[in-house]
Amino acid sequence: MAETRYIFVTGGVASSLGKGIISSSIGKLLQSRGYKVTIQKFDPYINIDPGTLNPYEHGECYVTVDGHEADLDLGHYERFLGIQTTKANNITTGRIYNNVIKKERKGDYLGKTIQVIPHITDEIIRNIQLLGNKYKFDFVITEIGGTVGDIESLPYLESIRQMKRRLGKNAISVHLTYVPFLAAAKELKTKPTQHSVKELQSFGVQPDILVLRSEHKLNDTLKKKVALFCNVSDSAVIESVDMPTIYEVPIRMQEQGLDETILKMVGLPIGKRPEMKEWREFLARRDAAKSTVNIALVGKYVQLQDAYKSILESLSHAATHNDRKLEVTYLNSEQLTDENISEKLEGIDGVVICPGFGQRGITGKYVAAKYTRMHNLPTFGICLGMQCMAIEFARNVLGYADANSTEMDDQTAHNVIDIMEEQKSITNMGGTMRLGAYECTVDTNSKTFEAYQTTSIQERHRHRYEFNNKYRERFEKKGMRCVGVNPDSDLVEIIEISDLKFYIGTQFHPEYSSTVLKPHPLFLSFIKAAINK
Ligand code: GLN
Repeated sequence: MAETRYIFVTGGVASSLGKGIISSSIGKLLQSRGYKVTIQKFDPYINIDPGTLNPYEHGECYVTVDGHEADLDLGHYERFLGIQTTKANNITTGRIYNNVIKKERKGDYLGKTIQVIPHITDEIIRNIQLLGNKYKFDFVITEIGGTVGDIESLPYLESIRQMKRRLGKNAISVHLTYVPFLAAAKELKTKPTQHSVKELQSFGVQPDILVLRSEHKLNDTLKKKVALFCNVSDSAVIESVDMPTIYEVPIRMQEQGLDETILKMVGLPIGKRPEMKEWREFLARRDAAKSTVNIALVGKYVQLQDAYKSILESLSHAATHNDRKLEVTYLNSEQLTDENISEKLEGIDGVVICPGFGQRGITGKYVAAKYTRMHNLPTFGICLGMQCMAIEFARNVLGYADANSTEMDDQTAHNVIDIMEEQKSITNMGGTMRLGAYECTVDTNSKTFEAYQTTSIQERHRHRYEFNNKYRERFEKKGMRCVGVNPDSDLVEIIEISDLKFYIGTQFHPEYSSTVLKPHPLFLSFIKAAINK
């Protein structure tokens, strides 16, 4: 197909309605019809990327293969579509302005006054069309973060208006709103939707499709009323009621013909409705699973599910593929002690020691690593979690009571985790960690190899500290083996105690690459070990 079609997804009434899931579902449906689809997200904040944001502010920081620190919605895009996204898929207002200001300094606009329109909007449009022009996608779905009416969103809405004007039917707008249920009146209310659409129209954007989020089913009369007041066709009002799993959403959207409506609008043949066999099989399997597997997450961001989003999703994929329901217990690492750990882990089948930064909550991670090591409870340490496993081992098995990471104590005599050489001279915080996908060679004689079934893997990273190779022999002699190593830098990527059922730590983040149809091998093995414990 020569032309690229652009779909814009905006949201109104409230935030957190799930624009990312709707964008992913639309992408999934179009992809199932054989189209080459990608999804990008614009975030209206001023940070250049979310890498410097606290997870409390914006949830997990996701990392793409090309080393971009990205919004967590990119994780949904990858998990639904099984694609790999890049730096081009997540752009913030900060980056847009930064690009424009850099061009201005170079003299690219010599003589001109630089303004939001056209310079900022042109840069936004360039970044949208880049995916179509350079990478030749059939569909580029662009999700606009924030809510219509926010001051920060205005240049994006103006860019949508311009693109719709320029591209005609090849650019369509999907607007997601919320239909609340007023218990006292026992009624679903469409007024917020009407207002939100009016707001969008006031910027010159007429939505083509409305997706109405609600906790209750919407009847036809209500949908027709919304269509009439909001100036869209009846078939373009889609409901999205809360689902037991986000992975049901594409199926519910398909039932309402959302993809067909889109194809009709952009003038593409409709053809047969795809079966989505594998996807449905996944859902059926998830549904059929009766017994549970109980996994504890040990970390400091426990009040907030989004902080460990990709880990949760990876565990859930792996549980389904092992025919188990996933039960997750959050254990606040700030509150774990040698005294209460056994009680806290009662009924738990496996423990994930979570990634993170800094001192807060670190001791609880050592407590957990020690307890699970001594009780042979399946344990999966990720990034900082892996580093904690190594430090605990050094303290309690190798006998270096002061063993530490120089992140926590730069004076320690036993720096079993140390800052990477290339990091020593870095002073800027943003985008300067070791980021993105790197090669790793896996030892065939290891539990890790049993999971991967291959010696050559690539996984994504986000860290500044590494296992100190000076200690490698001492660790290995006592049973903690370095079974995955970067072939170029010799950096230790995976440690394991092979005598235990599953005691594996990875310097990389396997959770970024688990998808619905292709769960990650280490998560699969971990869940298997947890079930068999
Ligand atoms: N803080 C550790 C480091 O920088 C681990 C990072 C992480 O868990 N993502 O090396």
